[in-house]
Amino acid sequence: MAECVFCAIVAGQLPSTVVAENAQALAIMDINPAADGHVLVLPKAHSTDLFDLPPEVGAGMMRLCLQVAQAIRRALQPEGLNLLHASGRAAGQEVFHTHFHLVPRRQGDGVLRWWEMRPGDAARIQQVAQQLRAALEG
Ligand SMILES: [Zn+2]
Repeated sequence: MAECVFCAIVAGQLPSTVVAENAQALAIMDINPAADGHVLVLPKAHSTDLFDLPPEVGAGMMRLCLQVAQAIRRALQPEGLNLLHASGRAAGQEVFHTHFHLVPRRQGDGVLRWWEMRPGDAARIQQVAQQLRAALEG
């Protein structure tokens, strides 16, 4: 199995809830969600940091982020959305495969927020993923 958790997910060696994908990137539900509809967008090829990302891969990731963001808006109607990127141990990351977090924001949520690493309700995550997939088709 791939040493990197996200590479193992991309290779289909670990389960994940896929929302959408394109040639460069995969969008999956975060298993430790900060909010309903919290999605991760990761490049299919391993890269530890945004600095090292080939431009076409970064563009593919951003295209997928925008598609999923629009699906989140249609399905969940949040008041806003945080698009977050952080990398490395100094940022508290545990997976060293660069990725973006799409975190729907409600009134009263801080614009920048930290969340506990705690598994979310699995059934709820599946339900929201289904809503997002439907919104992506719509
Ligand atoms: Zn990786």
